[in-house]
Amino acid sequence: MSEETKRCKKCILPGSYPGIHFDEQGICSYCLAPVEGDRPTEEELKSKLDKIIQASRGKGKYDVAVGLSGGKDSSYVAYFLRKEYDLKILGVNFDNGYRSEIAVRNMETLVDKLGIDLVTIRPNKKFMKKLYAHFLRKQGEFCSVCNNMGYLLMGSYMYGQKLLAGFMPLGVGGWSKKYEYQPGVSVTSMPYFFRNLGPELLAELISQPFIEEKVVRSYMRLNDPRQAQIDTGEQKESHEHALGFIQLPDYVHWDLMKMPQILKKAVGWQQPPNTHDSHFDCTLFPSKEYLKIKRYGLTQETIKNSVLIREGLMTREEALDRMKLEQTEEPADYQLFLKELGLSREDVNQEAEWSTR
Ligand SMILES: [Zn+2]
Repeated sequence: MSEETKRCKKCILPGSYPGIHFDEQGICSYCLAPVEGDRPTEEELKSKLDKIIQASRGKGKYDVAVGLSGGKDSSYVAYFLRKEYDLKILGVNFDNGYRSEIAVRNMETLVDKLGIDLVTIRPNKKFMKKLYAHFLRKQGEFCSVCNNMGYLLMGSYMYGQKLLAGFMPLGVGGWSKKYEYQPGVSVTSMPYFFRNLGPELLAELISQPFIEEKVVRSYMRLNDPRQAQIDTGEQKESHEHALGFIQLPDYVHWDLMKMPQILKKAVGWQQPPNTHDSHFDCTLFPSKEYLKIKRYGLTQETIKNSVLIREGLMTREEALDRMKLEQTEEPADYQLFLKELGLSREDVNQEAEWSTR
């Protein structure tokens, strides 16, 4: 079997994954890599989270803001914070113009059931389209736009409302940093977004009414909005109000396999038929996965599920089974999306390296 068509015997990463190699047993270098430091215990993580929540509770009109989409992770964040900490939550939803109906319905049912106020921010569509087209032309992907605009819009809104802590569901568990910044295939990095944005679009971004320039300028210096956590003090230097983003999976056991059942029972959460439970909140997700498989020979799901196997949260068989739903063909929506942006298939850069942080 050639290196390219090989698949790790422990996780499911293929030989096309950037920087991968295999040992004689067919185990990949990511599975063999030593784990850095000792993983904190559940008690240590819980006491950290308690501290963050204590610092934010009762400090503004709401105790915390939670980024909500109606997908399973963000729904679980809201559910968990209500159940475990009884917080006064403001749900903040980013409408990128491509929300799925089922996700919106989930979100509305959830906020009603949990008694959460909700604000939806829908930035100017013409500007968003400009950003998507720019990144497709330059980098061959468009997901970095929402990955970063989500933070910038929510951060700007929280700044205006003097809210301290924003909870997000990105990543899978306390090890999520390892997952998000895999070399070459990640588009969540903030430096990558700003490096490729260019001065004209940056100026246009700052002039958007939903955007606070102060927030943009301060996040431009970060690798990750998580670095601005309220317990570090770092954020307080750049703002009169500390604006921390907390990824709840960094602090809480994040059992993705059990989540749909828990949410279904507690808040009537639903997932679409004939698909897995990941990321159906955005109708562009199949196009993103398609571009990724074309560029790198694997999907985000494969990377994420490989991490879950290593963490003992998914079996290799379950992960291989999920691969049957992988988006290997061009989705019908892709062509429509390009048309809406005024692009042809040939305009999409197929060569650019995605983020290396
Ligand atoms: Zn592996």
